[in-house]
Amino acid sequence: MIQRFSSLHTHTTFCDGKDDIETMCRAAFEKGLAAIGFSAHAPIGITGLESNWHMQDGRLGEFIYEVKAARSRWEGKIAVYTGLEVDYIKGLRSPLDKDIREAGADYIIGSVHYLVPPRGEPFTVDGPAEELEKGITEGYKGDGEAMRHDYWDAVIEMAALGGFDIVGHLDLVKKGNIRGYPEKTRFDSENKIYLQRVEEAAQAIAAGGFAVEVNTGMMNRGYLAETCPSLPVLRLLRCHNVPVMISADAHRADRLDGHYGEARQTLLDAGYTAHVMFAGRQGGKAVWRDTPL
Ligand SMILES: [Zn+2]
Ligand SMILES: [Zn+2]
Repeated sequence: MIQRFSSLHTHTTFCDGKDDIETMCRAAFEKGLAAIGFSAHAPIGITGLESNWHMQDGRLGEFIYEVKAARSRWEGKIAVYTGLEVDYIKGLRSPLDKDIREAGADYIIGSVHYLVPPRGEPFTVDGPAEELEKGITEGYKGDGEAMRHDYWDAVIEMAALGGFDIVGHLDLVKKGNIRGYPEKTRFDSENKIYLQRVEEAAQAIAAGGFAVEVNTGMMNRGYLAETCPSLPVLRLLRCHNVPVMISADAHRADRLDGHYGEARQTLLDAGYTAHVMFAGRQGGKAVWRDTPL
């Protein structure tokens, strides 16, 4: 049954993951997954931002080479794909950048982790509570709602620009709702204005022909008891016939299919009867194969 699932959003020791490529392949095979894809955080050296969770500059070629070598070793047992998780950072980094296009990955996950506020330094919406609170205070004069508007603007801009195949953890900005986070970062993720922005993003994503992952990473790490995106967001995506795929954002081999059962149920609740599996590229676009849930 699990053969109907893949795990395309994964991290290894090339960036901030705990296990190496071979260990991840073996675990994916033993779990009975149909495919594993490697989506290292692409380097962001060109942005001038400091990070300890991205791949170091200059290692893209080596990464793709190593994943391809694993593909050969595992041929006939499990499909192995090359991928990248690329940041969209307004004005600084995009999946369209030359180094990303030249890397020639099988697929690209486009993710908004960073916001570039009107004032102050860029910051991540999924970092520690202090970073998010500081970002809201310094970047948006303490206005959390303005920060969230900027987040959805960034997602919509990324979708309009393109250069990727899968939208990563679409409603990541809800990480401010983790229990114990400060009041300033928390909000009602089902309020009307917020869902209106989600609807705009859903339209942009549908227009761009992207797939959206149903990421169980926040559940796997014990942050929030829901998929990313959540059920209300998935209902909107369903209305626009956006294809979805379950993924784990696994940073360890034992999490490759973590909480897939709950994610499957969430998709059924949202009205989906199928999710998609990667089936190669054609004409510069990823091809998705519908697979019953
Ligand atoms: Zn991410
Ligand atoms: Zn990731």
